[in-house]
Amino acid sequence: MSSISVIGSGFSGLSAAAYLSAAGHEVHVFEKNTSIGGRARQLKTDSGYLFDMGPSWYWMPDVFEKFFSDFGYSVSDFYELKLLNPSFEVVFGEDDKMSVPENFDALCKLFESIESGSAAQLKKFMDEAEYKYKTGIENLVYKPGLSIAEFADLDLIKGVFRLQVFSSFSKHVRKYFSNPKLISLMEFPILFLGAMPQDTPALYSLMNYAGLKLGTWYPVGGFGKVIDAMTNVAKINGATFHLNSAVEKIGIENNLAKHLVVNGEIIHCDAIIASADYHHVESKLLPEEFRNYNESYWQKKTFAPSCIIYFLGINKKLKSLHHHTLFFDEDIDQHSKEIYKTSQWPTKPLFYVCCPSKSDDGVAPVGHENLFLLLPIAPGLEDNEETREKYFQVMISRLEKQVNENILSRIDYKKSYCVNDFTMDYNSYKGNAYGLANTLMQTAILKPKIRNKKVKNLFYTGQLTVPGPGVPPSIISGKIAAEQLLKHLNKINHEVII
Ligand SMILES: Cc1cc2nc3c(=O)[nH]c(=O)nc-3n(C[C@H](O)[C@H](O)[C@H](O)COP(=O)(O)OP(=O)(O)OC[C@H]3O[C@@H](n4cnc5c(N)ncnc54)[C@H](O)[C@@H]3O)c2cc1C
Repeated sequence: MSSISVIGSGFSGLSAAAYLSAAGHEVHVFEKNTSIGGRARQLKTDSGYLFDMGPSWYWMPDVFEKFFSDFGYSVSDFYELKLLNPSFEVVFGEDDKMSVPENFDALCKLFESIESGSAAQLKKFMDEAEYKYKTGIENLVYKPGLSIAEFADLDLIKGVFRLQVFSSFSKHVRKYFSNPKLISLMEFPILFLGAMPQDTPALYSLMNYAGLKLGTWYPVGGFGKVIDAMTNVAKINGATFHLNSAVEKIGIENNLAKHLVVNGEIIHCDAIIASADYHHVESKLLPEEFRNYNESYWQKKTFAPSCIIYFLGINKKLKSLHHHTLFFDEDIDQHSKEIYKTSQWPTKPLFYVCCPSKSDDGVAPVGHENLFLLLPIAPGLEDNEETREKYFQVMISRLEKQVNENILSRIDYKKSYCVNDFTMDYNSYKGNAYGLANTLMQTAILKPKIRNKKVKNLFYTGQLTVPGPGVPPSIISGKIAAEQLLKHLNKINHEVII
């Protein structure tokens, strides 16, 4: 049995801790914050609001199910899932909104009513996206991305053109649809999960399959319930959690990680999985000679957005709002450019409103609403109170207009969260929210490597390495890192026996 330290308790760290403890190792998870969950922590107020601080879209339910089934459980052993209908709403302008139905036939009818012939096109688009999703999930995303040889599998080579790893998402969508509303609808997951549709491989239309065909789900009690469930699985298998435990240094001897310094104390270990942001681990915890990448490498990378978030408690019910609403009533290209190309505060922003109290009575006091407003921005922007408030006013006035109700005067809880908070709370590079963008040049083997090239018992996991940003990929990332570490331990045990 080896003693393994995991740095960070977000989805990727929890996943790695669960797999490693189930394999019989002594696992210690060190988390700098006072609660488990990383970017998916929850915020509980004295007045009875419960906010998810990060993820709110539960897509790819099969990935969550697979995680729990690896330990002999099912999702329903831990939390209840609700299928949302409508899946979400998109606001295109005053009195112009689209309710996206959960049922695929109803979605086809909706498409046809907007653009003639688009129902048939949507079916074709989805058949192809389904192939990508299934091939991607089964053969691609669980690969460690260490060498091109991993992709030498015949089916994958045959599929590589069908998978469209090398063509642009933006062109792909426009081959099927010409109505700007339908194009925006198909492009939104790409924009929010980090990159310009022009720079994203068409492979990622698998996200449209995930979102529009597999459904948008909600874990009752919020994403915190998923965090609790994964923590439980890790604990049942013997993992120990240490909160308020910021790792300050990784100690290296003879090219092996031998200890951590945690709150000034030396903690010995046989191997390490670092699930905190990759850049932080390399630049702050590791001596320079053992880093995989230097500062100029990170500066050249395209990061997924940061965001400005408002957590709001409203002391009345809002009649015409659904669980998820996307405000696409401004130019999507302009906002994308301001995130990815010109790095500036957006002139006419798109934003997103989440109202989980529409599906869950437990997240707000009776008769109140729980609101979460999110506006994606370029990472690294100067963040101050005045700017936050300016964008709050922009979002709230557009929301008020849309629901045709006064909200501002009914706010009884208000808290903002932005670049400086991401940096302080998670040691996030430039205050990024979602890690590294899924661009063509940052896919699979081109992502920051999951293992340290010089320190053989140090592995990385999380949204900055394979397979990428988002909750399901982070869970998968933890599994891949754990498998790589277990392989390494098997190898050295074998060498010792020989
Ligand atoms: C606002 C927001 C909305 C999102 N929405 C969605 C969504 O709807 N659907 C979806 O699928 N995904 C969404 N995501 C993305 C998803 O939440 C992330 O991809 C995922 O949670 C990342 O997990 P992680 O383990 O890689 O990182 P983290 O959750 O950041 O975990 C890393 C942990 O390391 C800790 N740490 C850092 N430094 C140290 C140190 N020195 N010592 C000890 N601990 C340390 C941090 O405190 C943190 O707990 C969203 C993210 C954000 C921020």
